[in-house]
Amino acid sequence: MMNTTGKIFTLISLLGLMACQSPTKPLDESPTSNNSDHLTAAVLWFQKGETARLACEQSFDYAKRLLLEKIAGRDSLSKLAVVLDLDETVVDNSPYEARVIQDGKSYEPESWALWVKEANADAIPGALDFLHFADSIGVSLFYVSNRRHENRAFTLQNLLALGVPQADSNTVLLRKEVSDKSARRAQVAEKHEIALLIGDQTGDFAQDFASAERQLKGKIVVIPNPMYGEFTRLPDSIKSAYPSLGEALKTQLNSKR
Ligand SMILES: [Mg+2]
Repeated sequence: MMNTTGKIFTLISLLGLMACQSPTKPLDESPTSNNSDHLTAAVLWFQKGETARLACEQSFDYAKRLLLEKIAGRDSLSKLAVVLDLDETVVDNSPYEARVIQDGKSYEPESWALWVKEANADAIPGALDFLHFADSIGVSLFYVSNRRHENRAFTLQNLLALGVPQADSNTVLLRKEVSDKSARRAQVAEKHEIALLIGDQTGDFAQDFASAERQLKGKIVVIPNPMYGEFTRLPDSIKSAYPSLGEALKTQLNSKR
């Protein structure tokens, strides 16, 4: 049996965990941030770590190898598609993360929208080489992102400035109503065979990834993103089990009235 001190410690630990989450942001919409040491270290690794650059480049090298396997023996490649996520897959938003850390803030839709409107994100290492290779052999490219549809002009502007091939209003499929990308993948699959899915979140591959993982083997490529993702969010089970954890903790306080 856990004693009272143990229970309080558990509650405090859980509250600390919750404080590290972005409480309002929908799953897999856009990058999230907080001021934790974890995020600072993660952004630092991503921006300065040689291993970060190598990991990204190796991921795209792997993507190229997989694509070469899939095109072997085929005549026309335009019906073959590669579907890529954008944020932390093709474009690097780590300067936004650095910005909110340095400003002592957390992820906020307003500051994120400003960053998107600047349309000044760099490419993830290795992304452009891969995309130009795929484009050069005639494979179709689609960009399925949960940036909001209203941001399409700024997003296209950023992609065009980077020289991202085949990026236009027909191939850049942003979020309208739902963050679930299944319908947009199905839209691509209506006229193309999806050869590869490239992303930094499991939602970039399948909404129910646990069920789909086995059949997606050899068809997905993960780009490393230590800054945000499912791993920084509380499971729904914990949220529903502790709807007012803060209120519960308050009852533990000694106010000495
Ligand atoms: Mg992403």
